[in-house]
Amino acid sequence: MQQVAVVIVAGGRGVRLGGAVPKQLLEIGGMTILQRSVRAFDRHPAVREIVVVLPAEYVGDGARLVGPTSRPCVWVTGGARRQDSVRAGWQAVSAEAEIVLVHDAARPFVSAAVIDRVIAAAAADGAAIAAVAVSDTVKRVRAEGERRVIVDTVPREEVWLAQTPQGFRRAVFERAVADAAAAIEATDEARLVELAGGRVAVVEGEAVNVKITTADDLAQARRDATEMRVGTGYDLHQLVADRPLVLAGVVVPSPVGPLGHSDGDVVCHALTDAVLGAAGAGDIGQLFPNTDARWKDAPGLDLLGRALTVVRERGWSVVNADITVVLERPKLLPHWPEVRRRLAEALEVPVDAVSVKGKTNEGVDAVGRGEAIASHAVVLLRRVGGVA
Ligand code: MG
Repeated sequence: MQQVAVVIVAGGRGVRLGGAVPKQLLEIGGMTILQRSVRAFDRHPAVREIVVVLPAEYVGDGARLVGPTSRPCVWVTGGARRQDSVRAGWQAVSAEAEIVLVHDAARPFVSAAVIDRVIAAAAADGAAIAAVAVSDTVKRVRAEGERRVIVDTVPREEVWLAQTPQGFRRAVFERAVADAAAAIEATDEARLVELAGGRVAVVEGEAVNVKITTADDLAQARRDATEMRVGTGYDLHQLVADRPLVLAGVVVPSPVGPLGHSDGDVVCHALTDAVLGAAGAGDIGQLFPNTDARWKDAPGLDLLGRALTVVRERGWSVVNADITVVLERPKLLPHWPEVRRRLAEALEVPVDAVSVKGKTNEGVDAVGRGEAIASHAVVLLRRVGGVA
């Protein structure tokens, strides 16, 4: 795997937002914009080192402003122009880095998928940027005194809006930075490669990868980042002899187990429906139809993991889950620590964010007579990034 370094540019003072604090240090949902940007790369498996470029007066407080990271992370003082800040960041990149990414700190909702695409294209082509196509008709406009008039209509398919990250093979980046040190002015690093006659690949960015520039952008991001969704799920399986009783992948000793197309793991099935329901992403029967051989005997934990992938791709993460299992016998209490541990791992939450409770049905109805096992689940999701 390529050694990837990222330079996160937070050198600006965000004058357009008008406040005394640079925009990248403003908070969205409990973390600053800068910390969210750093975290996006710190969590990416390919990124090995992070360099953050800060305004001079904030460098002394870098450790607090950047926040904890699991990768090596340094912060350096930015320059007057963006390209001076990028050059300062480049000087702190290690000699091992083969791919260098540059990212605007003001784009805190960059996804792992976009980072992946930029790395892959930069490795293949030397330079690459994330960009989004425009959906509006694009006009070239000229000022005539107080008025503006259309000069031309630009073919829409030729227009893409540049985002970051922008990625470069080391040698390509080194050249671009050297050019920037000379007289050349550029608003992004790709432009430097263009000016030097190099090819820059364009990969799909994402609408959520917005640059927070105006007070309206900030207000919208704050609304989106704090959005929550709740979902419920329910499952029941008939109990028959000689089937394993599986709850969240834990085999519970029992003379009977659930009859079913899959492993009949009611905890995972109810939780899968709760997760999908919260995100408005359908249900277990739609995603994993029992008419499809792929899902025959599929472990419940696998289905839950697949549902979580769908939900994460839609920009949600789990806050907590609360589950009730209704079963007449055996006693389930001894198994809850392991059930909770496995669910916490799957949901990527701390163990105390997963609750599992056992109930009996007091001898009443099919569950009470020991003919069936049922489970109820409630899950809370939190918006991970910006807009959906
Ligand atoms: Mg089921």
